Amino acid sequence: MSEFKTVRGMRDLLPEEARIMKYIEAKARRTAELYGFKEIITPIVESYELLSAKAGEEVRSRMFVFKDLGDRMVALRPEFTASVARLVATALRTEPRPFRLFSVGSIYRYDEPQKGRYREFWQSNFELMGSNRPEADAEIILLTDSLMKSVGLKYAMKIGHVGVLRGIFNQEKLDDKTQNAVMQLMDKQLYDDALRMLKDAGISKEGLEALRRLVELKGNNVFDVVAKMKETVAGHEKAAEATENLNEILKLISQSGSSIDIMVNAGFARGLEYYTGVIFEVHVPDLNIALGGGGRYDRLIELFGGDPTPAVGVAHGLDRIMLAMQEQKALRGIGQEKTVAVIPVQEELRAEALKIAQQLRSQGIRVEMEVMGRKMGKALEDADRRKIDWAVIVGERELKERAVVLKKLQKREQATVKIEGLAEAIEA
Ligand code: AMP
Repeated sequence: MSEFKTVRGMRDLLPEEARIMKYIEAKARRTAELYGFKEIITPIVESYELLSAKAGEEVRSRMFVFKDLGDRMVALRPEFTASVARLVATALRTEPRPFRLFSVGSIYRYDEPQKGRYREFWQSNFELMGSNRPEADAEIILLTDSLMKSVGLKYAMKIGHVGVLRGIFNQEKLDDKTQNAVMQLMDKQLYDDALRMLKDAGISKEGLEALRRLVELKGNNVFDVVAKMKETVAGHEKAAEATENLNEILKLISQSGSSIDIMVNAGFARGLEYYTGVIFEVHVPDLNIALGGGGRYDRLIELFGGDPTPAVGVAHGLDRIMLAMQEQKALRGIGQEKTVAVIPVQEELRAEALKIAQQLRSQGIRVEMEVMGRKMGKALEDADRRKIDWAVIVGERELKERAVVLKKLQKREQATVKIEGLAEAIEA
């Protein structure tokens, strides 16, 4: 028989990695709590129609699509936003706004596998719906900053504004298809191709010139960059409004007292087509792919049949956060809780050992019961090798005194301890 392997692009997370993943997930959940976001759990399988409605060609062409046994066209979710939009347009329709919704779970895209790019990966997703105000955008950016800092990462935030680019495109009366194609080229930083496409589409000389200058405007002196953007788009009313909106958001973030390493990039575009306002991505020097990204999408809920609802959101890639933590050696803080091995000296004392294990667990202590029937020496050797902290040795002589031997493995110290006070002795 051939050896079974995971399907291409899929991975197993072995205990060490699974533990880090769950740690990051817990940090994301804690961030959600601190910012007032409520968790929702939506299905991994959704109708193809829903998931393809607004995903943008890039994502749509990479979905895992299949027919279920009832002949329904379904797909594995390639993002959370469509599911959240479905809820807001249906079950939550009449609830008071704003909504602050948090999800975490696996996402599926038929991407080309490489470092940091898988076909099954994990995201934490935050959606703030019902507000079009810059403080809502600031909140999403600030919570992203909180999450990155809470896992100990050094990173930079790249920020742009789709409304600036779209403002020019719309004033130039470019159709949606051309706009989206241009945005996709810009997303890939193929600016020359993007400008060529705009020229072919008949954009005015002034429009082209403004865009040519915009795509070169970037830097971490953010208010200087924004001032230059303002000059550049002066003749385009909607683009000028969008630039002012970006300015407001940056001002709020800066005045909130948080220290985020921000780089404004006027030519920054993102793959998903539904963005309408500010967009941003999280980058670390060690990886050339984004750890997270988000932005404002004010028309999405309507497109799913809901009432007009301005919204801003972000998705963080937990796999890539884990990679970055490994690269930045940010894993040290995440201590494993202490574990105790409970080992009976002879077979007849198995039940006593189990009883003691249960007592410790009920007091919140992690216990590995010896289940291999090994001799004491072998069992201790193994516990030592696996860096277990304590061994509780259950022997006849001590049991007569209602006691056991408690051994601190790495330090090679031991003492006889009453079973009654065992948990306290371990914790001390
Ligand atoms: P997006 O929904 O495309 O904005 O993606 C949000 C985040 O999900 C990205 O910034 C990545 O961190 C993560 N991500 C996207 N695609 C993948 C993938 N194929 N493998 C791992 N993480 C991904």
